[in-house]
Amino acid sequence: MSAEKDPVTVIGLGPMGQAMVRAFLTAGHPTTVWNRTASRADAVVAEGAVRAPSAAEALAAGKLVVLSLTDYDAMYAILGEVGDALRGRVVVNLSSDTPGRAREASAWLAERGAEHLPGGIMVPAELVGTESSYVFYSGPKAEFDRYEPVLRAIGRPDFRGTDPALGQAFYQAQLHVFLTSLAAYLESVALLGSLGVTAETFLPYAKDLFDMMSYYLPEASKNLDSGDHPGDAANVTMMGATADHILGAVAEAGIDGRLPAAVKALYDGAIEDGRGKESWTSLVEIIKKPA
Ligand code: NDP
Repeated sequence: MSAEKDPVTVIGLGPMGQAMVRAFLTAGHPTTVWNRTASRADAVVAEGAVRAPSAAEALAAGKLVVLSLTDYDAMYAILGEVGDALRGRVVVNLSSDTPGRAREASAWLAERGAEHLPGGIMVPAELVGTESSYVFYSGPKAEFDRYEPVLRAIGRPDFRGTDPALGQAFYQAQLHVFLTSLAAYLESVALLGSLGVTAETFLPYAKDLFDMMSYYLPEASKNLDSGDHPGDAANVTMMGATADHILGAVAEAGIDGRLPAAVKALYDGAIEDGRGKESWTSLVEIIKKPA
């Protein structure tokens, strides 16, 4: 039965690549693997993946190649050495990097006769292949459509457009909110910690806040798309004063103030720009310009 399913090659066997291999194997796809550090293939080979002796031989196993690498430099280091083995391949690159690097890589792969579907997976390794998992893709739509049923094994495929930059742009946009929110959460834990409050005590309040954040988004999106920022509810002057108080609180606590200082600088910029009476969403006009 499994021989009828499309073969998949996975290159890059960190926790994420290994989780992807397991999902493809579970879905019945013959899966060939290669990793620079060969021992990282041992566990998935024991579970049914086929170990290729070289990256070029891994590419020879099938048309669909999934990359799960640190960044695009790792891709060039590996695929720059495979000679003609890229010809006719569809490279699904789920390594993190910038949208511009994804676009460049599409041109580089096209010169070598390969199609490129760059993107990013939006869950930690342990959730790959579960209902929560989804994956951004961009690039040639026909190749996406051809392999979409196979790619479903690792998570719900979400095609963002034919510009190869788009998949990576959505990925980094999501991760920016993720990383920055987590850093702000840690700053708050440290602030409370300076007064002897534990993270466990803060937990229900932090959880409540994270759950409630999405409440603001529909109204904010309307403002952001229209460019109209009515400040009837929470304006820049009021929020900017709070940004200043947060900075004062972390200074009193004697902890690192770089993150709240960056946020306060945006409010200061908006106030200098005459936006004090507008909604907090008008900060985007400051963010849109280079610092
Ligand atoms: P790891 O750092 O564990 O693995 C990185 C992989 O890249 C390894 O296979 C490593 O090979 C390879 N690599 C790095 N540099 C080179 C190089 N110069 N030449 C050859 N191979 C190289 O990462 P993860 O598995 O955690 O993540 C892989 C990708 O998935 C990343 O882009 C990450 O951002 C993304 N991701 C990861 C998540 C996670 O939960 N782990 C969640 C969402 C996305 P070697 O083993 O030889 O070092």
